[in-house]
Amino acid sequence: MDDSTKKKAEKVVSSLTLEEKVHLGIGADFWRTQAIPEKGLPALTVSDGPSGLRYQKPGTDAKGMTKSEPATCFPSLATAAATWDRELVAKMGTAIGAEARSLGVGVVLGPGLNIKRSPLCGRNFEYFSEDPYLTGTLASEYVKGVQSTGSGSCVKHFAVNSQEYKRFSNDCLIDERTLREIYLRAFEMVVRDARPEMIMSAYVMLNGIYCSDNRHLLCEILRDEWGFEGAITTDWGGMHDRAAAYKATCDLAMPGAGKHLEKQALDAVHAGTLGEADITACAERIAALAIEHAEAGSTSVDIAGNRAVALKVAEEGQVLLANDGVLPLAKDAKVALIGALAKTPHYQGGGSSHINARKVETLAGLRSDWTYAAGYDPKNGSTTPTLVDEAVAAARAAEVAVVVVGLPETIESEGYDRKDMELPSSMDELVRAVAAAAKHTVVVVQSGSAVELPWEKEVSAVLWAGLGGEAGAKATVHVLEGDTDASGRLTETWPFHAGDVPCMGWWGEPHRQAQYREGTFVGYRYYETAKVPVAHHFGEGLSYTIFEMKDLAVHGMTATLSVTNTGKRTGVVVPQIYITAPKDGLPEPVLALAGFARVELTPKETKQVEIALDPAAFRVWKDGWQELGGTYTVHAGFSVHDLPLACTIEHEGKAVKSLADARLADTWYEKPEGKPALADFEALYGKPVPKETHHVKGTYDETDSLIEMAKTSKVARFMVGQIVGAIEKGYDDPSDPQCRMSIQSSAGCALFSLVNCAGGAMPAWLAQSLLNIVNGHAPWYKA
Ligand code: BGC
Repeated sequence: MDDSTKKKAEKVVSSLTLEEKVHLGIGADFWRTQAIPEKGLPALTVSDGPSGLRYQKPGTDAKGMTKSEPATCFPSLATAAATWDRELVAKMGTAIGAEARSLGVGVVLGPGLNIKRSPLCGRNFEYFSEDPYLTGTLASEYVKGVQSTGSGSCVKHFAVNSQEYKRFSNDCLIDERTLREIYLRAFEMVVRDARPEMIMSAYVMLNGIYCSDNRHLLCEILRDEWGFEGAITTDWGGMHDRAAAYKATCDLAMPGAGKHLEKQALDAVHAGTLGEADITACAERIAALAIEHAEAGSTSVDIAGNRAVALKVAEEGQVLLANDGVLPLAKDAKVALIGALAKTPHYQGGGSSHINARKVETLAGLRSDWTYAAGYDPKNGSTTPTLVDEAVAAARAAEVAVVVVGLPETIESEGYDRKDMELPSSMDELVRAVAAAAKHTVVVVQSGSAVELPWEKEVSAVLWAGLGGEAGAKATVHVLEGDTDASGRLTETWPFHAGDVPCMGWWGEPHRQAQYREGTFVGYRYYETAKVPVAHHFGEGLSYTIFEMKDLAVHGMTATLSVTNTGKRTGVVVPQIYITAPKDGLPEPVLALAGFARVELTPKETKQVEIALDPAAFRVWKDGWQELGGTYTVHAGFSVHDLPLACTIEHEGKAVKSLADARLADTWYEKPEGKPALADFEALYGKPVPKETHHVKGTYDETDSLIEMAKTSKVARFMVGQIVGAIEKGYDDPSDPQCRMSIQSSAGCALFSLVNCAGGAMPAWLAQSLLNIVNGHAPWYKA
């Protein structure tokens, strides 16, 4: 944004009254900020991304009961990330930015940079990785792509929003080191490198303070340290306290909310606890964005070109997890195609990122010459003996059975987490029955995150297709038949079971607190250090050819190596660099990703590859960033668990021993095995952990939802019934996952969020009376 836009914004805002400025800090409706035409100020239009545009015309409803405008549905970011392809992710951003611009959308609400702490998080499909460097690198490219078109990008959800359970109010307890090194790192990279125009604060509390009101997070870290100059919006319904949020430099409360929040701010100004200058600064930032994007809507879109990008991302993002040689399939192979997801694919996730795709291809449609058997019901994965028998018969008559399984959207969506990592059990049974009958069984998994593969040893190949977007089916055919190499690599570990994940026990339901007990030992950082066996490792993925890596050397902050394709086909290799930090200082995971490349090679071809090392891999957070000096081992290879090359380097910095933390001596972090105890975590957290209380009749408060209160209150039950009824009416089929998600985002959200959001869906007085009633007091009771 140039200075003249900022100047114009300052001029407009200087002509506004205090009330008008405060009004500007609250959205006009779900997707627009306030326009003040008489002062020459247009509205800013925003729209959900991040895997395509969910643009809803003015006057249509909020969460997708009315379909959004058609848009290209790209693969979900989890799939896009599995490409490890910087350029391609940038192209995807560019395509989405162009679609936004053509529809008059100023800012795209995405990408989501939250770190995958558990495979069960319902929104993992929207996030890049369990690794902050990979997330930050790819997200920067995406944002630069979007913003190269003139559209703005709004990175979200800032920060530590790694679960859906009680996402409106759970309290994330996390030590500053883990926060900086793991959960803020990707945001920092993107803010510094790609300069996004907007940031969305997360719903959750960070160490007891809501992110919308969190001055440490939004002002001290984001603006003062990282130099962020753009606007900060809340997540939808995520403004907690307007006055505190102004002080934290949170500019905008979205979506539109009645007069309630405006009154909070004005009262604070009149009481002298909030300065008008804070409000003016926020108003100027919003005005500047609105002026900047006043011209959006003036371009056309290359629909065919964008679809080609969607296809390429889907092709590169599919990860071949196992292959005994059955793949690639011969073009004339006699194939039985089994699984209803081959006809009604799971190609995108549920919730705010759900797109009205232009044209969705299916495996059955593309391969009508393959014999099809449904095997199960696509809605919930349930099966019958007849469906299994038909599938087995088709498999017997074919040379290869391709079984398509996956997570129905009823299981994987924004708004709720998964209960476990399993596929519907009937799908597992189906795979086993087919595998026992077929000569070769290839399983295609459509999911946005890791799932258990209990039958893996019984089948010939497993291809993770991710959530492939509208061209995902074509991409799967291309990979199965070898038109393109299998070139995706996992960006998250696939543990055997959810119980192996280090945060389980303090993550998700039924906790009101999210204790980040595992500290920096997230994902592979934990599995590799604690030597916990996993089903599939971070960075893993097979190719149809074979590669050899040699000659690792490090000069300054660049690693070099040579890689040769020793196989018979052209293929793609993703050399990955990990470092092991010097020991005896702060507890460190044994490996951390520090660089990567993506290289295509023809048979016998050798390339020298240069990989820039992430400078952050050589620093730690202890009372500020500290360069960690000493001897590092630099490893290179094909995944975090397949690292054939290593060398050592000396790095200048503070002596590692001087950074040791006596409080952590003899704690879990020194030798992570099993799960950290509360005492371990308190040593890391640096203070006692507040007691977690479970609310019941008598203690319900504004952080509880109507659904929670309904457990003990008839009145709350009645209100839930009314909300559910009204939402279900908007859907042809109430089992539609979008319907469940809408219910979770209303009857399931914190009470304060109902008051502060959506035109003030519930007046504050009603919320207070309701709280009185559900707690067993008279409606007018005042404590
Ligand atoms: C989601 C955001 C989304 C917003 C608007 C919220 O519920 O958390 O990611 O951008 O809704 O749809």
